[in-house]
Amino acid sequence: MYLMDCIFCKIAAGEINARKVYEDGEITAFWDLNPQAPTHILIIPNKHMESLSAAGKEHAELLGKIQLAAAEIAKNLKVEDAFRLVTNNGRKAGQSVNHLHYHLLAGRRFNWPPG
Ligand code: AMP
Repeated sequence: MYLMDCIFCKIAAGEINARKVYEDGEITAFWDLNPQAPTHILIIPNKHMESLSAAGKEHAELLGKIQLAAAEIAKNLKVEDAFRLVTNNGRKAGQSVNHLHYHLLAGRRFNWPPG
């Protein structure tokens, strides 16, 4: 599914430029425009899905592939020893773009619990 007014659908489709670091038939990853760490990559399914809450059992393989893509990207960017993978699910959790995305963050110290 492709949403006309979804910026991440447009990035996946190549209609808006992004600094892509990974692409396959199902997943796209690119640098965040407003990085919160020296390495800040967004990983998205190409097909529109609002958030993780919208996923069903039929998405199990895709969600697994996203995690494996994250590990591969971390390795390619040489941050595999220390990175954080997070999704903000819902507005109150900090989600501002309603197309499922995972933040891959690395290159600085991270606090726990997160803010
Ligand atoms: P979230 O707040 O979890 O929904 O994350 C959305 C992220 O998308 C933010 O970190 C934004 O900086 C990032 N973002 C928004 N538009 C773009 C874009 N066109 N290219 C790259 N990153 C973007």
